This record gives sequence, structure tokens and C-alpha cells, in this order.
Amino acid sequence: MDLSFTPEQEQFRAKVQKFLGENLPPGWGKAGFRPDGMSMIEFMRDWQRRLYEGGFLGMAWPREFGGQGASQIEMAIFNEEVARVRAPAPLNVLGLTMAAPTIITYGTDEQKKRYLPKILSCEEIWCQGFSEPDSGSDLAAARTRAELKGDEFVVNGQKVWTTLGHIADWCMLVVRTDPDAPKHRGLSYLLVDMKTPGITVRPLRQMTGEAEFNEMFFEDVHVPRQNLLGGLNEGWRVATTTLMNERGTTALASVMRYRIVFEEILDLVRSMTRNGAPATSDPAVRQRLAQFYVELEMLRFTSYRAFSQILRGGNPGPEGSISKLAWSELNQRMQEFVIELEGPASQLIKGSPYAVQGGRWQHHFLRSRANTIEGGTSEIQRNIIAERVLGLPKAR
Ligand SMILES: Cc1cc2nc3c(=O)[nH]c(=O)nc-3n(C[C@H](O)[C@H](O)[C@H](O)COP(=O)(O)OP(=O)(O)OC[C@H]3O[C@@H](n4cnc5c(N)ncnc54)[C@H](O)[C@@H]3O)c2cc1C
Repeated sequence: MDLSFTPEQEQFRAKVQKFLGENLPPGWGKAGFRPDGMSMIEFMRDWQRRLYEGGFLGMAWPREFGGQGASQIEMAIFNEEVARVRAPAPLNVLGLTMAAPTIITYGTDEQKKRYLPKILSCEEIWCQGFSEPDSGSDLAAARTRAELKGDEFVVNGQKVWTTLGHIADWCMLVVRTDPDAPKHRGLSYLLVDMKTPGITVRPLRQMTGEAEFNEMFFEDVHVPRQNLLGGLNEGWRVATTTLMNERGTTALASVMRYRIVFEEILDLVRSMTRNGAPATSDPAVRQRLAQFYVELEMLRFTSYRAFSQILRGGNPGPEGSISKLAWSELNQRMQEFVIELEGPASQLIKGSPYAVQGGRWQHHFLRSRANTIEGGTSEIQRNIIAERVLGLPKAR
């Protein structure tokens, strides 16, 4: 693949940089940032609205649904620039990167017109109702039941780990519509209005102290038949498209994000001493840093490969699993390295006057534990790479 950009693409990059320079609030990215006169959620909504009005969202979507009709390359440039200045990701990230591409692939014209523009403008936030207490990796074992009664599905069951469920307006819900069919063939994919009576959302607190995700209970929830995405009992195929987008489209942005983490680690190392000498002169430290650098370069070229696959085929394929596996495990190793480097000070968290850099690495370390679980565990990514990328025999 040709890795250079055309003059037009470089102009577009400059336009993105200018927009970000003019629109990011002063103090963004500094520890303890609080937006002026609004809550963090309001700020994030406002930020997405600005991105939308600036013409930077849904760039590769068809124009009739609010897109810009541009190529995936512009989208990649935009993601790179956003990551470079550590600008916030759009609030409706699950809507933009997962629900929308799935609706574009399987939706009727009416569904596309109904949902896509409001995903872009952040008027409607989406969550992903796939995982259940007994079916995470094995999504096809989902038991949340939807019975078709006349023109409505009646949904009963439980979902768990639903990111943004507490603020979402709509949910991509995987349900069992035929309990007698083989497990992959009895699923359907519903678009569910989160304000429908019978839905209860309860927050789950994670070890960072935040509550990003939730459990959701469905009791006799009535969903109109027109909210079925793809055919009845064809939910497995539709859900796979959502998952491949989750793993594939984020690959390039993650390269930039973890390059920045690496550079922040370099700054930290430069400010530290080990055994009375600068930490940068310690061969063990230098070796670890060199290893991270090599892995980041590997991730960069692997992401270009996945990206050229998207350019050729439209939708991301199973090779997105390689990037997901690589960035999640690399980030955990980088965070562990910082904790080791801090030594006894690594016990001090945000709030302690002696915490290194305000205790932010402790938060990053704890959050990074989720990286190899969210979006499919490392074991599952390895299975996908073995079976669907390398063509090895299926695991029993
Ligand atoms: C931060 C975060 C956000 C999330 N957000 C969402 C969300 O918005 N929506 C949503 O639906 N889900 C979400 N999830 C759930 C996530 O997709 C699941 O946690 C994940 O798929 C694993 O499922 P599980 O937790 O049920 O573990 P299990 O599937 O029970 O797995 C337990 C262990 O067994 C291993 N294992 C399972 N099957 C195999 C196999 N075939 N071969 C080898 N090893 C295997 C796994 O790798 C894991 O180590 C989120 C999770 C996290 C951590």
C-alpha cells in the first residue's frame, strides 16, 4: 500500500489541526480539567456537536444520511489528529463506530434515515447490549428472549457490562428469537428505545472507582417489529459486523493513542533517577523502552494492513483482532512498567501530595486491566486469528 498522503489529504490534515486548535477548551488534557458552566456529559455532547458541525463526523458515510461522502482515509487522518492532541473522543462513540456501520450495512432506507443523522449529531446516544451473565465470549449463547407477538417483540432477560447504558437513548440488542434452532441461528438484532417501559439500568462500579458500565434488566419490554435490523434469526451475522467494526476501525486511532502513552512514559523516565543515576542510563529500563517502541511500530504497520483491507472491502475483517490483541496487551505491559518504575511511590494514588504526576498512572494502570477483556478477550482474539486469519482448524 502507498503510505504517503496526497496534497489534498495534507490540506485536510491542516484543516483538522486548525479546527482542534480553535475549539479545544483551554486547560483540556491537564489533570483536574473541569468544563466551564456545564457538566462533563454536557461538555462531551457539546464537543460532539462541534465536531459534527465542523463536518468531521461520519466522513465516509453516504451524504443522504448526514455523511460527507469522503473516503476512509480522511477519517483516519482525523482520528490521528484527534489522538495527537489528546482531544476527547465523541461521546456517542458506540453509535458512531458500531451501531452506524451496522445500520449502514443491514438497515432499510427508513432505518438509515431514522437513526444515522441523530447518531452524528449526538441527539441520540447508543449502547451495546450483547454480553449477558452467562454469555460474554460465547455471544451465540445469549438467552435474552424476544417473542414475536403480532407486530411486536416482547423482550425478557438480562444484559451486563453495558457501557454508557445509564445515559443511552438506544441499544443494539442481541436476543434469542428461536430457542429451538442451533444457537447461532436463533438470534436476532433489535434496535431498542431505552425509554421503553420495563427496562431497568443499574450502574456497576469498577476498580478505578468509576461506573462506566451497567447491568440492564428487560421485563416484558415491547419492541416494534420494524426495529429488527437484518432478518429474523439472522442476528449472528449482524452482530459479527458490529464486533468487527469495534475491533477494526479503532486500530489506527489506538496506534496514535499508545504512541502518546509511550512518549509520556519517556518524559517520566527522563525525570527519574535509579540507584543515584538518571533512569535513562539504566540498561534494563532502556531495553524495556526499546521493546515498547518496536511493538508500537509493529502495531502501526499491522493497522495499515487492516486499514487497506477496509479500503478494499468496505467493512473491517477478522484481521482487526490482531491490532486489538496487540494494543491491549502492549498497553498493559507499558502501565505495569510505570508502576514498577515508581517503586514504593506506586502505592500513592490521586489525592496524595506525594503521588507521582498526581497519581494518574495508578488510574491508567487499573483501567488497563479491562483492555484485554473489553471488545472480546485476548483468548478470543487469538482464536479468531487462528481460525479466520490463519485458517487453522477450529478449536473444539
Ligand atoms: C470495560 C468493559 C466494557 C465493556 N462494555 C461492554 C458493552 O458495552 N456491551 C457489551 O455487551 N459487553 C461489554 N463488555 C463485556 C465484554 O465484551 C465481555 O466481558 C467479554 O466479551 C468477556 O466475556 P465474559 O466477561 O462473560 O467472560 P467469559 O466469556 O466468561 O470468559 C472468562 C474467561 O474464559 C476465557 N474464555 C472464554 N471462552 C474461551 C474460549 N473459547 N477459548 C479460550 N478462552 C476462553 C476468556 O478469555 C476469559 O479469560 C465490556 C467489558 C469491559 C471490561
